[in-house]
Amino acid sequence: MGKGLLIVISGPSGAGKGTICKRLLETNPQIMASISATTRRPRQGEENGVNYFFIDHDRFENMITKGDLLEYAKVYGNYYGTPKDYVIENLEKGNDVLLEIDIEGALQIKEKYREGIFVFILPPSLEELKSRIINRGTETEEDIKKRYGSAMSEISQVIKYDYVVINDDIDRAKEDIEAIIRAENCKVLRV
Ligand code: 5GP
Repeated sequence: MGKGLLIVISGPSGAGKGTICKRLLETNPQIMASISATTRRPRQGEENGVNYFFIDHDRFENMITKGDLLEYAKVYGNYYGTPKDYVIENLEKGNDVLLEIDIEGALQIKEKYREGIFVFILPPSLEELKSRIINRGTETEEDIKKRYGSAMSEISQVIKYDYVVINDDIDRAKEDIEAIIRAENCKVLRV
């Protein structure tokens, strides 16, 4: 696709992907965050064009039809997808691009773009995962059940990724990802 690295991060809800990605972006200006489109409603404090592009079903389906998405999936009943142009333009410019997406979407990208780096974030334990989802306080009880219920089958997909990072400490997890990026940039075939 281009000269930059495509970094794809997945993991169950509550693994801490969002916080790790935020920290990673704060200190690595060469990494650009892809902003996904979604049909989910914004949570309190979320902004259109910052956290997501919040769009309706028709518009999302139109993006699918027009081939505007690099990948998309239905996650917990809502569509989520990665707008294609932004990713391709930045990779071509030599910027790294970070995608924080679900497993189904990550596997679609893996088929198309084998050079991507696929990182799976795990929580330190299932108990910790559950309490993080509950303590986040942004989901309804039904959503909490859905998200926790999916976690087990999601975790079994870790084998399809290149790297696994256990998030028992945010700073360590962020450093692990930085080390993975450094190693990828030193690969003989990338030089
Ligand atoms: P949330 O609703 O908590 O923001 O996100 C729910 C799930 O959707 C998370 O696992 C997140 O990684 C995933 N997700 C966010 N954006 C995308 C996207 O563009 N494509 C796919 N396939 N999944 C996404």
